[in-house]
Amino acid sequence: MNSREESVKERIEGWTPRTRLGKMILEGKISSIEEVFTEGLTIREPEIVDVLLPDLQEEVININLVQKQTDAGEKSRFKAIVAVGNRDGYVGLGSGKAKQVRTAIEKAAINARLNITLARRGCGSWECGCGKPHSLPFEVRGKCGGVEIVLVPGPRGLGLVASEAAKIILGLAGVKDCWTRSFGSTRTVPSFAYAVFDALRKTYSLVTPAEWVR
Ligand SMILES: [Zn+2]
Repeated sequence: MNSREESVKERIEGWTPRTRLGKMILEGKISSIEEVFTEGLTIREPEIVDVLLPDLQEEVININLVQKQTDAGEKSRFKAIVAVGNRDGYVGLGSGKAKQVRTAIEKAAINARLNITLARRGCGSWECGCGKPHSLPFEVRGKCGGVEIVLVPGPRGLGLVASEAAKIILGLAGVKDCWTRSFGSTRTVPSFAYAVFDALRKTYSLVTPAEWVR
């Protein structure tokens, strides 16, 4: 067990829920993340995600040193961006600031859990048509700061044609094959990562032509 897995274990063991949803989960009244999402409930405690998604994986996307001029002199802190996901639709992205790298990562990991969302997957590639959820159901766009990204469904076996940060986030979401196109200041990793996350979040807010008729 590594230190991060240990901190998750400690968190669950010492958990006293503070929210109604947390209490319902500990009492066994809600036992799946699907129920939380279909009921439209808000997750305000990271432990909820740890309990309902025990296979959750965590990846550090970026660490920056942020310097700020104060009256007392220069104050420097680390800013971490962490992505979490179960490689099967659930994905989260978060950030955290602290004097120590380790603490910044822990804060970001908690924030990523609170931001967890469900990414809709599908086979939206006209070249493929296998119908399995290996890619995205349609083209989707995401934005953050000066970065815009387009995720384009790809055929099975293509892999992720994307930058390192996008590959990690898409992989954690369970998207295996897709192309990416990006515009703007794409070298700004935090904005880029949030743009990818924004695109994944939009897979559920967009209505496809096939659904109009229902
Ligand atoms: Zn396919």
